[in-house]
Amino acid sequence: MLASFGARPKRRRLGDMDGSQGDRDRTFALAERATALMREYGPSATPRAYAVWYNYVAALYPKMNEAMSGFMATGAVSEAEIDILYEAYLDGQRLVRAADETSRTVLAELANLTEALDLSLGSSAEHSEALRTLLQDLDGTGLDRTRILEIVAALAATTREVADSNRVLEARMRESRNEIESLREALETTRRESLIDPLTGLSNRKQFEESLHALVEEAVAERKPASLVVIDVDFFKRFNDLYGHLTGDQVLRLVGAVMRETVTAGATPARFGGEEFAILLPGLGRAEARALAEKVRTSVMTRELVKRSTGETLGKITVSLGVAAVRPSDTAVSLLERADQCMFKAKRDGRNRTVDDGSVPPPVG
Ligand code: GH3
Ligand code: MG
Ligand code: MG
Repeated sequence: MLASFGARPKRRRLGDMDGSQGDRDRTFALAERATALMREYGPSATPRAYAVWYNYVAALYPKMNEAMSGFMATGAVSEAEIDILYEAYLDGQRLVRAADETSRTVLAELANLTEALDLSLGSSAEHSEALRTLLQDLDGTGLDRTRILEIVAALAATTREVADSNRVLEARMRESRNEIESLREALETTRRESLIDPLTGLSNRKQFEESLHALVEEAVAERKPASLVVIDVDFFKRFNDLYGHLTGDQVLRLVGAVMRETVTAGATPARFGGEEFAILLPGLGRAEARALAEKVRTSVMTRELVKRSTGETLGKITVSLGVAAVRPSDTAVSLLERADQCMFKAKRDGRNRTVDDGSVPPPVG
């Protein structure tokens, strides 16, 4: 029993996280899937098309996948559509251009503000100068009525000028403030979107990896419990082949919804691969994490699937889950590998079940 855990080859590595080469098997599996989709939807096997399809199956760019799903819904993807996706998401110059555009807008706003401030400061200085002259006049020889009236009129005029230029300054500052605020919102939205999987609304792989690191570091440093649940849909390839990719996507959305409904506050449910999900559970030990995993499993199992377009009943879907609780010697990589091993054991034991790492021995040596 214990040997069956250890004998399992490592399936996945957090390649981006530990700087090592990504899992070779995984890249070949992605390549095969990319080729199959390219054959099915087109347009051709050019390097550009391959790059787009490969990144699509690797689910690296949520926004690109969303756009691609739209193109796929028509049954075929054209050369022009591949170009759109390539240029928008994979062309390395895009981010540089976006950053350039943002800083140019900010600089223009700053220039506007500086100009308005100069104007206002200039008129204030003029105002002080005028006041000084008038005061000198007042200090001087005896004042006649006409001179006093002149001085008051001059004072009124410069005060009006200052008030006018202050109004201009205020209007410009308000404009700049609004412009900067909408830039800030746009940046914030982009940042948030870059961490969300558009299909399910759960955290994406990027957010998952970041949070997994933080979870393990904190739990180890503070000797607090924390667990990771890995979830994989059973026989999903068969389901896709039978009902099509778009209905498959509907299943992924369902699994995402069940996860979101089931988790408690503080947990991070994520979709970090095609049909692979995970839940990060700070504060939860093995038994509690296992109970939550079981809730997800039974909840998914009891949902009846209906194809939206036809009303056709598609039967039920099941998931296999692996649960690993953080150990003092853990890293993000070792925790994920252990949860993965448990999930694979659940598959081998017949699927639609949860296996935890209660009987996984510590590494030898
Ligand atoms: P097992 O029970 O052993 O997990 O079998 P499986 O068929 O689920 O496993 P496998 O990993 O071989 O297949 C995963 C399939 O998931 C391959 C691909 O067709 C499908 N898939 C991956 N990403 C997506 C996606 O974003 N949308 C859809 N509809 N299908 C996807
Ligand atoms: Mg899988
Ligand atoms: Mg699967």
